[in-house]
Amino acid sequence: MHILVQKFGGTSLATDERRAQVASIVSEAVHEGYSPVVVVSAIGRSGDPYATDTFLTMVKGIHPDLPKRELDLLMSCGEVISGTVLVSTLKSLGLKAVLLTGGQAGIITNNDFGDARIVRVEPAEILEQLAAGYVVVVTGFQGVTESGQITTLGRGGSDTTASALGVALNAESIDIYTDVEGIMTADPRIVEDARILDTVTYNEICQLAYQGAKVIHPRAVEIAMQRNIPLRIKSTFSKAPGTLVTNMHPDREVGTDITTDRIIAGIAHTPNVTQFKIMTTDASNKQLTDKRIFKAMALADISVDFISVQPEAVLYTVSDEVAAKAVQILQNMDFETEVVPSCAKVSIVGAGIAGVPGVMADMVEALSDAGVTILQSADSHTTIWVLVHQRDMVTAVQALHKKFKLDI
Ligand code: ADP
Ligand code: MG
Repeated sequence: MHILVQKFGGTSLATDERRAQVASIVSEAVHEGYSPVVVVSAIGRSGDPYATDTFLTMVKGIHPDLPKRELDLLMSCGEVISGTVLVSTLKSLGLKAVLLTGGQAGIITNNDFGDARIVRVEPAEILEQLAAGYVVVVTGFQGVTESGQITTLGRGGSDTTASALGVALNAESIDIYTDVEGIMTADPRIVEDARILDTVTYNEICQLAYQGAKVIHPRAVEIAMQRNIPLRIKSTFSKAPGTLVTNMHPDREVGTDITTDRIIAGIAHTPNVTQFKIMTTDASNKQLTDKRIFKAMALADISVDFISVQPEAVLYTVSDEVAAKAVQILQNMDFETEVVPSCAKVSIVGAGIAGVPGVMADMVEALSDAGVTILQSADSHTTIWVLVHQRDMVTAVQALHKKFKLDI
């Protein structure tokens, strides 16, 4: 069998017309001799009647602590609806099609309701249905615990479902269909002349995704990478070839260095973060103080990012939502803290950054020419991050996009 995983996001399934388009893509794959496994998200976005966020608003404000188990049951409904509708659409084209929930498809997760991790995939049922000539539609974003409880996989979870199935079924490719024509050099919503990347490495897209490029979930990339299953990001609405994600750039010989042709692949941004600067000058035991700060954050389940431990201060960021809670904790511990709310993290990502002199200099120049203040910075061999005021975020992304000539 030539198994192909095809994942369709919420906007791709939003109307009858779009679902007909989705069905024709699946049908084409069948006629090319593939056995498709089709992973679906819930229909539409927040506000649309069958979107997951809409379901959540129905229970909001009734009782303060509806258990996460029940919330997951509610959140798993959207994909069941879209999957059923898609099966009907496929049947109307004369295809044999069957819908499996995450659990029925063999996706076993841990008990972490709301953000469950896949621990195993048992693909026997899918394989049986494929062998019988069915297109197998699988509800994305969900699985089942060992004891049969329905769980959901967190934001972007349908991408993870697609990758996990692609790996378990040893698919020829995992095709992520969405509302853009591929992975772009920046989010097209803020950079008008962002370009589509023909190829990126797993590593580059993983970094871009972790740094805020929402086009694919980073966990999905990591899973596909484990078995080197090619990932393709394509548009549901056009014939454009999309972006191929692999280890190698296909036009290069095996063993050659991918880092020479392009320094920066793309720019990502994460808004809504708050910076903390905690003065530790007076601390009698600096190491112990540092440890106490991070322990306190961890105990309160506050995840910290952009950490910089310096001789006289500790800097880090948290998401705006939990900033007030973090301020409270630090006040209770009697720390002198500077807080900068409403910041954004802007990152340039590229396999070619390592060892190329002057990238940081160019970044600093571009930002200062654009009048953007850098509040903090950090780097790794594939990424340079800067923290800026959120009001400067769009300017910063656009200035960097231009500086690194990503528009040409
Ligand atoms: P889906 O519902 O299909 O999963 P998403 O909204 O999750 O779609 O992802 C697609 C969106 O990701 C695009 O509409 C685009 O605005 C956004 N996006 C952010 N960064 C990028 C990028 N670098 N390349 C392409 N799209 C991006
Ligand atoms: Mg998505």
